[in-house]
Amino acid sequence: MKNPGFNFQNTYTNLPSCFFTETNAVSVREPTLVILNEDLCKDIDLDFKLLTEKETASLLSGNSVLSNMNPFAQAYAGHQFGYFTNLGDGRALMLGEHITNSGKRYDIQFKGSGPTSYSRQGDGKAVLGPMLREYIISEAMHSLKIPTTRSLAVVKTGEKILRETFLPGAILTRLASSHIRVGTFQYAVARQEKTFLQQLFDYTIERHYPQISNSKEKALELINILLKKQIHLVTNWMRVGFIHGVMNTDNTTLSGETIDYGPCAFMDNFNMSTVFSSVDVQGRYSYGNQPVITQWNLARFSETLLPLIAKNPADGIKVVEDIVKSFPKLYKNSWLEMMKNKLGISGESNEDEKLINDLLNLMEKNTVDYTNTFSDLTYENFSKGNFYQNEGFKNWYESYKKRLENGLLTKKDTFNLMRANNPYVIPRNHNVEHVIKEALQSNYSALFEILSVLKNPYKKEKVSEKFIQPADPSNRVNQTFCGT
Ligand code: AMP
Ligand code: MG
Repeated sequence: MKNPGFNFQNTYTNLPSCFFTETNAVSVREPTLVILNEDLCKDIDLDFKLLTEKETASLLSGNSVLSNMNPFAQAYAGHQFGYFTNLGDGRALMLGEHITNSGKRYDIQFKGSGPTSYSRQGDGKAVLGPMLREYIISEAMHSLKIPTTRSLAVVKTGEKILRETFLPGAILTRLASSHIRVGTFQYAVARQEKTFLQQLFDYTIERHYPQISNSKEKALELINILLKKQIHLVTNWMRVGFIHGVMNTDNTTLSGETIDYGPCAFMDNFNMSTVFSSVDVQGRYSYGNQPVITQWNLARFSETLLPLIAKNPADGIKVVEDIVKSFPKLYKNSWLEMMKNKLGISGESNEDEKLINDLLNLMEKNTVDYTNTFSDLTYENFSKGNFYQNEGFKNWYESYKKRLENGLLTKKDTFNLMRANNPYVIPRNHNVEHVIKEALQSNYSALFEILSVLKNPYKKEKVSEKFIQPADPSNRVNQTFCGT
């Protein structure tokens, strides 16, 4: 098998052996390529044109192995819905760390390639629908300029996997700047060996944050860095109406990238309590709870570093708590700034928070679409729907116009700011479900179409109405599933 350019140089496996298990993908019946991300291949110096399509499918299903591949599954733990559990890559496999020509390091990982020593009761497999969901949404997030893992390919395995019914098996190949999770640190601590924690910590700094490698208080600095990274991430999720759905600590990265797209979805109507995941019965991971949960996960992360902060871990608690407690204020500032950008407002005014909340309350009360309302404000398009005729909205709009007039920006600057912060198109849940339904019949044109539209989410030009309109009662999809 020719190598399309994978330049694997693993460093993770220099960690103590309890952090991973060398594992091979199980071979699959009949791999066929569903989609390959050509743009991403170019960006990371891979060229699958050197291979036939059959060879590509064979390589990206694990049926063929390159001589420089030493795949392994990673161990980790995590709080799932608040409860601590030992986990690990139960249906994922690291092919290796790929180094691009410009020296960037990326984890290349399979999802759905068969059991590992961490599979517990699971079969280690994945099915087509959820793998396409991850592909579509992670690529959309990238184009929305939100930190995320990427998707390189989806291959069908030619097998039928038993879930609620038999479904076509599939393997996703994804890319991440690393798969180090808050749960990886929790795992290191649970092993009760301080050197394990120290080694993981040093590795993380070397890999992600070498700028603090010489500082005196590295552990505190790392917590502060993660605080900012995670605030940036969750603020952006809130900006575009993204609901992750499973914000467990094992799904929270040290890189600050969005990871593990399961029952995630974008909301149509603005409502703080929106939940899609079928298993999130209490709404722990609802749209509006995401910032609080980010803080909770950060607190769990900070606890893991206590042994590195002071000889007696209890001595570090106060200083760590102060950092974690700074979250709400920092988040609020970040959220306000983001919302002001969405409204094209600059400069400070004590009235801004009220102005923003008044609009959001009106939107929630009148059940209007989040994305489209901000697009309509951006393009001053008030011809559709009753909301804009509503007295409450009209009054709000007057105050808003006054605020813009008293601001510092020209009309053009306001428009540009709004356009850069308000997506015109998002992967709406009913559209994603439609694409998956078609793909299950081996029709992939809808998949290619949505991916092409989502490449330019901030552009209004030539986007078909079907991607703009929220679901109507006949095609609304209110629930999403983990798909495990
Ligand atoms: P996730 O929903 O991706 O956060 O997964 C939670 C945990 O369940 C991880 O340890 C996964 O590896 C594991 N898991 C999910 N699906 C499967 C499966 N089909 N087989 C084995 N393990 C799985
Ligand atoms: Mg996960």
